[in-house]
Amino acid sequence: MNVIELKNISKTYHLEKLEVPVLFGIDLTIKRGEFVIIMGQSGSGKSTLLNILGLLDKPSSGSFKLAGIEVSKYSDDELASLRNKYLGFVFQQFNLLSRISAYKNVALPMIYSNSKDETSQEKPSKLLHLVGLSDRMEHRPNELSGGQQQRVAIARALVNNPLVLFADEPTGNLDSKSTKEIIQILKNLNESGITVIMVTHEPELSSYASRVIKLQDGIIISDENKNTVLDKDENSQSHIYKKKVFSVSRIKDYFVQAIGSLRSNKVRSMLSILGVMIGVASLIAMLAVGKGAQKSVQEQVESLGSNLLTVQPGSAQRGGIASESGARLRLIYEDIDDLQANVEGIEGVAGIISGRAQVVGNGKNANTRIQGSSFEYERIRSIVPLRGRWFSKDEELERKRVVLLGRTVVANLYGDPDFNPVGEYVKIDRTDFQVIGVMPQKGSSGWRDEDDLVMMPLLTVLYRLAGTRYFNLLNVQVKTGADMDEVSQAITQRLLLTHRFLPTQTDAVQVRNMAEIQEAVSSMARAFSLLLGSIALISLLVGGIGIMNIMFVSVSERTKEIGLRKAVGANNKDILFQFIIESIFVCCSGGIIGIIFGAGASIIISKLADWTTSITLFSIVLAFCFSVIIGLIFGVFPARKASLLNPIDALRHD
Ligand code: ADP
Ligand code: MG
Repeated sequence: MNVIELKNISKTYHLEKLEVPVLFGIDLTIKRGEFVIIMGQSGSGKSTLLNILGLLDKPSSGSFKLAGIEVSKYSDDELASLRNKYLGFVFQQFNLLSRISAYKNVALPMIYSNSKDETSQEKPSKLLHLVGLSDRMEHRPNELSGGQQQRVAIARALVNNPLVLFADEPTGNLDSKSTKEIIQILKNLNESGITVIMVTHEPELSSYASRVIKLQDGIIISDENKNTVLDKDENSQSHIYKKKVFSVSRIKDYFVQAIGSLRSNKVRSMLSILGVMIGVASLIAMLAVGKGAQKSVQEQVESLGSNLLTVQPGSAQRGGIASESGARLRLIYEDIDDLQANVEGIEGVAGIISGRAQVVGNGKNANTRIQGSSFEYERIRSIVPLRGRWFSKDEELERKRVVLLGRTVVANLYGDPDFNPVGEYVKIDRTDFQVIGVMPQKGSSGWRDEDDLVMMPLLTVLYRLAGTRYFNLLNVQVKTGADMDEVSQAITQRLLLTHRFLPTQTDAVQVRNMAEIQEAVSSMARAFSLLLGSIALISLLVGGIGIMNIMFVSVSERTKEIGLRKAVGANNKDILFQFIIESIFVCCSGGIIGIIFGAGASIIISKLADWTTSITLFSIVLAFCFSVIIGLIFGVFPARKASLLNPIDALRHD
């Protein structure tokens, strides 16, 4: 049976500007069981011919029959499968993978075949025993001599029981003793029935061969057949290409390879994991801060009760009439009693003004928020002072200098939030104020400390500190059962009337109920979260680009390895998956560590800065999915580049 039949094979290399014709119309038939040696001067085209015979390279033209089947039109993946099942290749440079043991090097082609053979575990050991290396199975290639490495390479070529064994100057890098050993192994293999085709420039080796072919300038100039080989078993293989399916061992190998390659480049892997980690951690932390702010603001707004209205002068007065009058509605103290008396459905009205000032007490200084409220505020907001009491209506009317302190102010001035300051005096704007109470504790709303304030009567602030009649906020409590909208409109009309505005200038007054306030607050909080989230996403993206870079480096560093894997039968998908899995692996580990760090960071933020943070399952899932997607997207380009490499070009890479 003819194992190989070449008809009129030519090969021309296409360089950028140059065409290099190397083989010219080679006709060659090789029978099963032959030991063929190809000789010739350097540059005569021996390797080119052998690479074509071994399906590592494609001829430019001509017909190639392997075991009677025309393969010159086969796809890359089909050729990979043929190489894997029927051909073994031994290179001058050994081409072993340096990271893995001799045993694993020998087992490599088995990963890409789908043999579910029970004995497959022992196969590499048996072959290593055959080549005399039973005691070196766990050694790595760099712990072996050149001759030993080449023997490992031969065992690797045999692991899938090839029909033909190719060897391109297998002894070229070896001393004469190793050369003898290697050639004897090849001879023995040939005697056991394997067809051997070997390139060499050592004439003394030709005595081992059954046939010697001489090549010169791409043409066969002599073909000596010493003895006719008996063609033994004649079971022709009619259909030699089978589609490969994914096996567990192959997927396991993808992971083993990915982890191995990450481990062998520790610093680089750490850096890329760090990049993703920072992105994911900031995504988690920022979403937690944003979500926390939203939640606590919402809680605070909800705690005010649903029957509360806020009244403010309109922010912008649109329309010609308002600008003609030139006036702006400004709230005055008389409005409070007037609304209470003249609008139906009102339970209580409180005026509010706030600003900042320096408070001095106990020899200490604190810059804090000053809020003036009218007497009714206590009832409307259900305030129960922590210590002392709220001010009386008379104290307000007499503009008494009395204050209630927030706990943060107490802590700032007296060094202890639990200190009882009732009866003490504090100075604000060089005037003494008597402390009559401590405000109930409220905590922080997002990033504002609600306990950092000094509360006093509205009139005291207006006339003693601010020097104005005007303020800008009313809280109105609506009677239970009253219609909120009706009351709102009545308030607006009453204010327009008393302030001499036209009834149509409804823009001048802004009455809002809690639902509207809540809506405004949460849309602000959403925008805030979105902003933080997008910053984090950008950093994640930067991390992803970093990964892509590193993957590209990894691909070009391992081009030779890719070439070898393809030579022993890996197809494009195998290489693609191996690199994508590596990239996803980096991103996932970065993602998981990032989630842990991000959660830690948000807890620390909430402890240190006293911000409310809230880590949601959603943000964790989001961050994790993002890191996987980043790994996939940024891993695909380098992986594709790797998978499309031509095996022989990749092997030549250095
Ligand atoms: P041999 O193995 O007999 O020494 P080769 O088959 O390696 O010779 O090379 C034959 C000729 O083809 C040489 O002139 C070499 O320069 C050229 N050649 C080999 N490989 C390539 C390539 N990838 N691109 C361009 N020219 C090549
Ligand atoms: Mg060569």
